[in-house]
Amino acid sequence: MKIDFVTLFPETVLAWTDFSILRRAQDAGLIQFGAVNPRDFAKDAHRTVDDSPYGGGPGMVMKPDVLGEALDSVHTEDSFIAFTDPSGELFSQRHAREWSKKSHLVLVCGHYEGIDQRVADEYADAIVSIGDFVLTGGELAAAVIADAVARLVPGVLGSPESLDEDAFADGLLSYPQYTRPPEWKGRRVPEVLQSGDHEAIRRWRRKQRLLATRARRPDLFAKAPLTDEDIDLLRER
Ligand code: SAH
Repeated sequence: MKIDFVTLFPETVLAWTDFSILRRAQDAGLIQFGAVNPRDFAKDAHRTVDDSPYGGGPGMVMKPDVLGEALDSVHTEDSFIAFTDPSGELFSQRHAREWSKKSHLVLVCGHYEGIDQRVADEYADAIVSIGDFVLTGGELAAAVIADAVARLVPGVLGSPESLDEDAFADGLLSYPQYTRPPEWKGRRVPEVLQSGDHEAIRRWRRKQRLLATRARRPDLFAKAPLTDEDIDLLRER
């Protein structure tokens, strides 16, 4: 799989792909990252990429002609092109799962007051936000999306089972994790995790996920498909 970023600041977003799990995934040939800078397609001596908004208002808007040429230089018929935008639909684990199956993902980063609407109208397969807040540019959003997608590409994570237990994998939050030492600052690791009783551990973890989701994310809990066992676990005291 290849992920290309279209960004005025390629160094920033590529830096995130250069360490740890994503670095190893590239070295193993599982994934490639690249970047295209719209400034390289600007036509004037000042290499202008933005202009003031029609209709007035503050700030600058990224020009459609320059950004369009940058996109034309990178996309093919097989590309899936996603724009980052605080007004887009909320990016979630569901998008990450679907996009991890694409052969080529292009992530477009806006800057300043955003991008001329016609570019998304012409090219976008998706327009996504990473949350209800406004960033200075799409680079962090694109890095977040690329990271979430890349870790789902087969082989990128050492043990694929860890994906099944992730938060959101089945609509629930994750359970708390502990490692040695068994006691730290007077806080003990829950007995059941040291019992070696796999069935008891499985039930405990499932219950923690249910309780955490109900307490912190009632929106997810309302949609979660609960089993008979789940209902029993929630009734336990
Ligand atoms: N006034 C504009 C601000 C644009 S922010 C607006 O409200 O839309 C500039 C760029 O940052 C956007 O084009 C987008 O690429 C990126 N960005 C900002 N916040 C984002 C978010 N929550 N999710 C995804 N991208 C975001």
